[in-house]
Amino acid sequence: MSNLGTEDNPLLVAIVGSGPSGFYAAEALIKSELHIKVDILERLPAPFGLVRSGVAPDHQKLKQAIKLYEKIAESPDFKLIANVTVGTDISIKELCDAYHAIIFTCGAESDRKLGVHGENLKGSYTATEFVGWYNGHPDYRNREFDLSDDVAVIIGQGNVAADVSRILSKTIDELKHTDIAQHALDTLAESKIKEIHVIGRRGPAQAKFTPKELREFGELLDCDPVVLKQDLILNSESARELAEKSNIASKKIYDLFCEFSERVPDTAKSKKCFFSFLMSPKELIGDSKLEKIILEKNKLSGEPFKQSARGTGETIELDAGILFRSIGYRGIPIEGVPFNDNWGTIPNDKGRVTNLDGNLVPQLYTAGWIKRGPSGIIGTNRACSVETVECLIEDLDKLKSDTIKPGAQAIYTILNKKKIRHISFDEWKKIDAKEIEQGDSKGKPREKFTRISEMLSVIE
Ligand code: NAP
Repeated sequence: MSNLGTEDNPLLVAIVGSGPSGFYAAEALIKSELHIKVDILERLPAPFGLVRSGVAPDHQKLKQAIKLYEKIAESPDFKLIANVTVGTDISIKELCDAYHAIIFTCGAESDRKLGVHGENLKGSYTATEFVGWYNGHPDYRNREFDLSDDVAVIIGQGNVAADVSRILSKTIDELKHTDIAQHALDTLAESKIKEIHVIGRRGPAQAKFTPKELREFGELLDCDPVVLKQDLILNSESARELAEKSNIASKKIYDLFCEFSERVPDTAKSKKCFFSFLMSPKELIGDSKLEKIILEKNKLSGEPFKQSARGTGETIELDAGILFRSIGYRGIPIEGVPFNDNWGTIPNDKGRVTNLDGNLVPQLYTAGWIKRGPSGIIGTNRACSVETVECLIEDLDKLKSDTIKPGAQAIYTILNKKKIRHISFDEWKKIDAKEIEQGDSKGKPREKFTRISEMLSVIE
């Protein structure tokens, strides 16, 4: 019988990635009746993943989730080991030697590809890099976005597309008291963009915005939302979709589009945000940079809730100097961990990592977007992490129960030998305090450090 999970032999779990799913997994482990020690390893010096660098700066309420994560971090059974890249600084074998179980909660760091000619032209960007840039993520600090054309196009109609187009649509006054990075605020202040086109490959009944996010477009200081009435005509399958009680969010979205289509244009506003449907980019054209987008008109085919967009062959041209592909995130592989390249996820059964042939890989677990793909809001990750932790605890007898593992001490020894400056939660709190102080004089919740060297200089 296993004594794992007792005071003499606590269950030691490493979590890779400090976003919402990582913290919710830590919470579920700490709340269990077993004796458990949890260490979260994080690549950046700053924790909280997409809550810090994905959630839009003008959505500060959503960032309140951090308060809960800070509570979890206060537990004596919790440690943060930040500024450490798993797969490079620490191998999976070294983690498996140090801990009984590893949970990968490293999210979806990359993006899906459109697969059209001209996709990589200057002026065509992923939403991922733009979001990272305006949120001060060190990976995107040096990106440059040329906002000198008057037309911007966003491909995709999910909440990330809503964030990107709203940031482009807002005035500096609407943004300057958020935690948007200063370099982004300076560039946006010079923006010449007047028309923003948010283009969906399917119809208005299939847009993936949430109503709250879409409603905000009706409340912008200097931008009018525009929807053409003729674009709101539904086929019978879409009408059946909207009539389903369980599809109330899509009905609310459709009603908002109808409301936007009824608006009398406000001539005092200098920007317009157009929502268009049933079109896919076929080609991006330009010499040294993007100049024009060829869009193919689509029609829907399939049963209600399974309708897909099919090209009709009919095309239109749209002159635009900048385009953001906002068609979904994608996970990236970690050396030594199985990876399903088609889905961009770690193959798993309810969070237990498997090989591609479906066989379980001992000690390895996963939760969040890298487990199920990039869907759902922050809270969705809680149930996902709880499911994984329940499986892990069910597996207690299989987790090399007789072995007392060294845990964080072994990791610190390896990192110190390699001279890797790992950061604890207390040290992060010093960086955090400095960011808040820097924001104070500007009336911002914080001014983020956007370079790793700047963060490290606070604790050196
Ligand atoms: P998403 O909700 O999955 O939306 C992706 C969009 O891209 C859809 O409109 C999709 O159309 C379209 N698309 C996919 N492949 C395409 C292609 N090849 N060509 C043209 N269009 C294509 O993804 P997301 O916006 O990246 O958001 C990810 C998750 O984060 C979502 O669950 C979202 O709600 C959440 N999120 C929430 C908030 C918030 O709560 N405020 C903010 C940001 C993100 P189809 O429907 O036809 O596939």
